[in-house]
Amino acid sequence: MNLQNMNLLRTTNLIGGQWIPADDGQTLTVVDPADGREIGRVPRCGAAETQRAIAAADAALPAWRALTARRRAQLLQAWNKLILDHADDLATLITAEGGKPLAEAKGEAIYGASFVEWFAEEAKRTYGESIPSPASNTRLLVVKQPVGVCAAITPWNFPLAMITRKVAPALAAGCTVVVKPAESTPLTALALAVLAEQAGFPAGVFNVVTGNPVAIGNELCASPIVRKLSFTGSTAVGRLLMAQCAPTIKKLSLELGGNAPFIVFDDADVDAAVDGAIAAKYRNTGQTCVCANRFLVQSGIYEEFARKLAERSRTLKVGAGTESGVAQGPLINAAGLAKVEAHVADALAKGARVLCGGARHERGGNFFQPTVLADVSRDMLVAREETFGPLAPLFRFETEEEAVAMANDTEFGLAAYFFTRDIGRSWRVGEALEYGMVGVNTGMISNEVAPFGGIKQSGVGREGSKYGIEEYLEVKYLCFDVR
Ligand code: ADP
Repeated sequence: MNLQNMNLLRTTNLIGGQWIPADDGQTLTVVDPADGREIGRVPRCGAAETQRAIAAADAALPAWRALTARRRAQLLQAWNKLILDHADDLATLITAEGGKPLAEAKGEAIYGASFVEWFAEEAKRTYGESIPSPASNTRLLVVKQPVGVCAAITPWNFPLAMITRKVAPALAAGCTVVVKPAESTPLTALALAVLAEQAGFPAGVFNVVTGNPVAIGNELCASPIVRKLSFTGSTAVGRLLMAQCAPTIKKLSLELGGNAPFIVFDDADVDAAVDGAIAAKYRNTGQTCVCANRFLVQSGIYEEFARKLAERSRTLKVGAGTESGVAQGPLINAAGLAKVEAHVADALAKGARVLCGGARHERGGNFFQPTVLADVSRDMLVAREETFGPLAPLFRFETEEEAVAMANDTEFGLAAYFFTRDIGRSWRVGEALEYGMVGVNTGMISNEVAPFGGIKQSGVGREGSKYGIEEYLEVKYLCFDVR
């Protein structure tokens, strides 16, 4: 791989300010999902290295939390600037190990940096309050203090932004962090660590451990020193980590799976809805937790929407993220591809109709055609499970009540979208959807100033926005007797 700054390409982990291999020298191979070729190796660390990273974060904590918020903000601003300065190299890494088109990868670097900038600003605003006392002799005060050592376990679909969205608020609040990135995308995480070191964060404030997820996860969850775990990934793993954190009563932030409905009412602007659908469906080849998973379309507009969405989907160029004009990269791996294929096969067996795509892409490997299916029904797998791929299944509904009931008929509650031009319906449906985030006449909802997160089994807590830093702060109440 060719980077302008080859210093960003690391084959070691950052623990306590030292770049180290695994104790036993074992490595994890990182491959390009577009062609299966090896692009690098990183340490395959386990329990012992994780314990050392936790100890390093613990040792760095007293001095880090004692700094002024302004000083922490300055270091975060320096990191933000370095991420932006190296956005092209970071994009190259993101595309190489994650597969998304280069332009999308660069967008992620900029989006990821926006959390660092935002939380650098928020660092100075962790206000407490005074409470009017019920007794004349006491004065009541609330202050905010950092939670302590935090762990972050992050996924491969946003290998940069899911780290900064956790690490930036943690560092801003005065916490120190141990990050365990996904096995498929550790190179971006290590490059972020290089830039953090260059920005001037003291040794031990930001540590990255790559390797065996079970061994590292066990240590992070079991350690009484780690006071908080922030995880983004599947609901199954989130559930497991939550249980593993129970013995030490850790604070938790969980960003888990979704099953996002995308509702199009008869009164919608169809072309705007198609634009929104393309944005909400095909980002990162359908591999985001807020990607529209189920399209619920009212019968009066069904055929028109279906035809237009299929027409647009057909035009999306499929290829390696490095090729020009590509809109859809490969799936992350063979298992990801197999899931999309299984969902399509199940839907076809139960009576769905292919409007476009429907099969692997002719270039082979992990590539799948952008696919639109009509006449999809609620007994199909796509109704229940997150496909995490370029598949748009179209369900039909008649009434608003039916649409809301269908949309809410899932254990997930992350993102939902709907298109309507009726202002009353906007409010009614917006309030009735059991989701943490709702896009009204838009398919794009993520940014650093808004609270990202889910309800039901999609998670706990919020990231980004003024709420994001609260996840890394404890509330302390001080009661003064003034006599
Ligand atoms: P996905 O299905 O999208 O890969 P996962 O939930 O499996 O999502 O992965 C998200 C993150 O969780 C990754 O960093 C992965 O290594 C980590 N992970 C997976 N299994 C475990 C586990 N048993 N303990 C700790 N972390 C895990």
